[in-house]
Amino acid sequence: MNSLPALCLALLLAAFSALRAAGAPTSLARPNIVILFIDDMGYGDIGPFGATKQKTPNLDRMAREGMKLTSFYAAPVCSVSRAQLLTGCYGVRVSVPGVYPPGSKNGLNPAEFTIAERLKERGYATMCIGKWHVGDQPEFLPTRQGFDHYLGIPYSNDMQRTSTQTGGRVVPLVRDDQVAELLTDEAQSRIVERYTDEAVRFIRESKDKPFLLYLPHTAVHAPIHPGAAFSGKSANGRFGDWVEEVDWSVGRVLDTLRELKLDQRTLVVFTSDNGPWLIKGADGGSAGPLRGGKGSTWEGGMREPTIAWWPGKIAPGSVCDAVAGTIDLLPTAVALAGGTVPAVPVIDGRDLSPLLFGRSEQSPREAHYYFAGYNLQAVRQGPWKLALAAQRETMGKDAVSADAGKSPRLYNLDQEIGERTNLADQHPEIVARLQALAAKMDAEIGGNNPTARRPAGEVANPQTLYPSEANAARAKKAKQAAK
Ligand code: MG
Repeated sequence: MNSLPALCLALLLAAFSALRAAGAPTSLARPNIVILFIDDMGYGDIGPFGATKQKTPNLDRMAREGMKLTSFYAAPVCSVSRAQLLTGCYGVRVSVPGVYPPGSKNGLNPAEFTIAERLKERGYATMCIGKWHVGDQPEFLPTRQGFDHYLGIPYSNDMQRTSTQTGGRVVPLVRDDQVAELLTDEAQSRIVERYTDEAVRFIRESKDKPFLLYLPHTAVHAPIHPGAAFSGKSANGRFGDWVEEVDWSVGRVLDTLRELKLDQRTLVVFTSDNGPWLIKGADGGSAGPLRGGKGSTWEGGMREPTIAWWPGKIAPGSVCDAVAGTIDLLPTAVALAGGTVPAVPVIDGRDLSPLLFGRSEQSPREAHYYFAGYNLQAVRQGPWKLALAAQRETMGKDAVSADAGKSPRLYNLDQEIGERTNLADQHPEIVARLQALAAKMDAEIGGNNPTARRPAGEVANPQTLYPSEANAARAKKAKQAAK
């Protein structure tokens, strides 16, 4: 063989491999993703969104350094909201329409692709710390849905059951897929601190590779249990105390990223899962100028106080009012990680990075849809929101207000964020346009005969994760039925 062509070939190959190495995705190119997801925090509960009683200096700074998203939507209740964030789909598309109690036979289908699975495919370390709430059976836990590790109370902190070991009402603290402790109400006052310590530890351990930290706090869902260092400190009772502890937690996470010099390669999103639980009174938070609260498809039930932060990439002090939401976090994260979400299975979310980086002011989605259970109750496009059904004001307050009985009702959210003035008669063409959008989505995933809804996961013989009176009662019932 002639040695000259062989040498040329070797040189070419070496040059090519050097070029490839230079252009190849590295951990530097793939940003870390941190999602801080608060439970039952209302639109008006933090400083950047107008709260004055409780102080949130860390969130104030986060907003000054990042972007406020003022039309960012979650869902009316916890489980639906988490299914949406994890899958990029409306909860109804994946058959998660409501809230799962402990020991439920259903959960988010393990066959669905979560944000953690999508990022794991791209080499991310993944951890979930906090309230899971898309199924507590072993088949449904975070470690079966793409998370390397998990620590948290796997559902709401008011879902205590009586332990047959302690005789007390408790919730479990789960480490990976095992119950590590049974927590009394009293012990919940350390939960924000424990989650935060774990988050800081995970960030430190993962600093040399890209990571996803999903931190769905147990706070500030009732019962309210602020830590000792925060108890009695705010000007807004124990609810304000717990918001201030959450703010402290946010500060520790952001400070850790700064200290490790990860701030310029980490996207942090702070938001909430649903609106304030208004029937809880002083323990329930505030939707600020919005109408309604948790459990409602009025804005107060689903529009969340949201901040996106990524120094050097997101313009400091910026504000985005385009329609966006938790369903967009999966496709955004995948795009930032250099991937593409496959066309099948269908998801509802879209990549928000053009909005975050100031390259667009337009929502990447045609519309946003407001489901209560499987019922499509409203649709929003631009400033216009069309209500298609009677809407309750909040969970536990089901009577429909006098002005909300007649449908359809059209509101201009730019002119009146509080949804009082029905403009349907003045704008029949907008009503018709939004009705057509709603009819299409309703046929796909709403109501009783959807064409594109995927099944939830289901197990036989579900149990609570620890020996409980609920399990004993279930076993007794099964025994009687077998006789
Ligand atoms: Mg909630």
